[in-house]
Formats: sequence, C-alpha cells, structure tokens
Amino acid sequence: MSTFPLFLPDTEAMEAFGGSLAACTNGGEAIYLHGDLGAGKTTLVRGFLRALGHVGAVKSPTYTLVEPYELATRRTYHFDLYRLGEPEELEYMGIRDYLDGEAVLLVEWPQRGEGVLPAADLDITIDYTESGRNLTLRSHGERGRGLVDCLEGDKSQVANLD
Ligand code: ADP
Ligand code: MG
Repeated sequence: MSTFPLFLPDTEAMEAFGGSLAACTNGGEAIYLHGDLGAGKTTLVRGFLRALGHVGAVKSPTYTLVEPYELATRRTYHFDLYRLGEPEELEYMGIRDYLDGEAVLLVEWPQRGEGVLPAADLDITIDYTESGRNLTLRSHGERGRGLVDCLEGDKSQVANLD
C-alpha cells in the first residue's frame, strides 16, 4: 500500500483532480470515494467524466444507486451506495455484470457494499479543511500503485502535494 496526500483548495481543483485521475486509468479500476455528505465525492466524479468527454450534468445516483456512462474511451459506473440496505442488494442489481475487467467503478459510500464490492485498487478519502479539502489516496496492489505513480508524475497535480 502506498499513500499520497493532496490539498485541493476549491471545486475547480477537485474537478481537475478527477480529470487527472481519469487520464491515469486504463480500464477495470475500482476507485472508492470516502467522505461525509458534501465532501466533494461527486465533484471529483464530475471532473473524471467530463475529462473523458461527458457533457452535461453529473449527479449522485442517490436513488438509482448506479449510473452508467458509455464514454468514448472508458465505460464508467458511478455508484452512490448511501441508500443501499444490504450489500447483497448489489447482487440483485447485477453487480457482476459491471465487473468485466474493462469498466471503471467509481463508488461513493463503498463501505455499504462491503463483502460484495470487489477490493479497491484505490481508496480516496476526502476531509474538510478550513480553506478546501484534504485528500488521502491509498493504493492497493499493482493497479492501484500504477494510478498513484501516474498521478505523482502528473505535473498539474504536483503543486497540490503536501
Ligand atoms: P458529496 O458527493 O461528497 O456529497 P458533492 O461533490 O456533491 O459532495 O458536493 C461537494 C460540495 O463541496 C460542492 O458544493 C462543491 O462545489 C464543493 N467542493 C468540492 N470540492 C471542493 C474543494 N476542494 N474545496 C472547496 N469546496 C469544494
Ligand atoms: Mg455525492
């Protein structure tokens, strides 16, 4: 596991970070977003999707639990599991069809799906600060490390390093 801290001063920086993360994916990554309501999880996802060409709104799929995005280079599933009752409900939703090794999973409230969701390649924890947000990235395994290495090599993100 390696960890990587970032400070993001505003919404634009959060969206830009999401875009950098998107550029570092190859497909098949499971990226889990931790943080309270309003921390900025959906903002990060919005930046991710727009960087891959999505035009238009990105809202948390609070009631539908998952929103698929068929983008030119990357199929992405955005989950918000805040209202998930039991992890097993993910099985009834057909979670297995989403785990095809090519789609990227971006999951808000992943702890609600523990035991059914695959292990994360990258956990991102977002904490409030007085003037913005602190992010802590924790990578697991080689695919996660690849993501963090790529982000560390991204000059536009280096300025945000602690
Ligand atoms: P969540 O999905 O975690 O509930 P949202 O992304 O929906 O949170 O909302 C986060 C709120 O915080 C939005 O109003 C957004 O503009 C703002 N925000 C996001 N990132 C930052 C940041 N780095 N600094 C300050 N405000 C931010
Ligand atoms: Mg959200």
